[in-house]
Amino acid sequence: MRSEASNTPETDESLPTQFARHFLETHGAVVEEKPEGWDALLPGELARQLDLSELVSARRGADARTPAIHLPEKDRSLPIGYGSPLVEKMIGLASDRAPLTTCRVRIDYLKKAGFDKSIADVFSFPNSLPTVQSTAEAKTEYIVFNCWYQAQSDEQQEGMLDLVFNLETAAPIFEMDVTLTGLDRTFPSPGAVSSLDPKILNRLLPKLQKALEDNIAAEIADFRERMKRRYQRDIRHLAEYYESLRQEMEKSLQRPGLTEASIADRKEKIALIPDELARKTHDLLKKYSIRTDVRPCAVLRILTPAVKILIKLTKGKRERSATLFYNPITKTVDPLSCEGCGAGTYRVWLCDPHLHILCPGCRRDCPVCRKG
Ligand SMILES: [Zn+2]
Ligand SMILES: [Zn+2]
Repeated sequence: MRSEASNTPETDESLPTQFARHFLETHGAVVEEKPEGWDALLPGELARQLDLSELVSARRGADARTPAIHLPEKDRSLPIGYGSPLVEKMIGLASDRAPLTTCRVRIDYLKKAGFDKSIADVFSFPNSLPTVQSTAEAKTEYIVFNCWYQAQSDEQQEGMLDLVFNLETAAPIFEMDVTLTGLDRTFPSPGAVSSLDPKILNRLLPKLQKALEDNIAAEIADFRERMKRRYQRDIRHLAEYYESLRQEMEKSLQRPGLTEASIADRKEKIALIPDELARKTHDLLKKYSIRTDVRPCAVLRILTPAVKILIKLTKGKRERSATLFYNPITKTVDPLSCEGCGAGTYRVWLCDPHLHILCPGCRRDCPVCRKG
């Protein structure tokens, strides 16, 4: 999982520039960092689809707020910003024709042994005992959903998220570098690979939804905390303000020489304070509530050799099997997918009595058994 929130100080690239770069990288371009920006060498097909030269340069330019991609061959510059034709075209390409890109990875050396240790390194099975039954080299497939998100409140935060799943086990994969840097990768033409099975995609969608919610929640945790603190501070100030107002008005009632009418008038105003405070509190809640928006930008299929590991999980006298993958890209065993909620987990519990695979969040009340 890689993400780039727009308010992280380490990047001075605008979000559309980050998106453009990420889009090009995940679609097979080789991007080279330059002091004044970056250069990208695009696969011919991608250059044609975007109507770009195969070699393009992104320069921050004199005004960093209006970054542009320069096409040396055609000697023209295209601005990259929200609503700019180039970025719109990238977003269009990504969402109309998903999956846009398939990438095949060649692995020179695939791990052959020591999977017991690889499993023990990352997994824990607090109520069962895992045993490796068999291992075999197998082709597998990962699918990457590259998504743009935005959270709006009193402030705004935007970022990009990559959500990765193993297509066979539907397990969400953490921390996978989807730019496949340093790997031998090729981009077969669409006709050369089988198309994505819609049934498999349908099975993934609820998990994608869940993964999006979880990941966005994690991405905006600081943002949410900041909004919460500000909300609490404003609520406190508001309460203090109305309390002092009430005290002042109460005090003014003691003044000598007030007419009956003005006393009644002041009392009425004091009586209105709780409603006024409730209304203002509600306004603050609206001001600081967080609305999020997500848009998928690109889908990437990664075909790779991997090691399929069949394990047996023994709990008391009962046992069940599970399939794991040793992932040569992350160089670790992929997590298991919780059968209750779909989350990826390295801490695996088995339910009683059906031995469903559960994450720590689901283990106390197995959602599968509950559904019956
Ligand atoms: Zn779960
Ligand atoms: Zn169960």
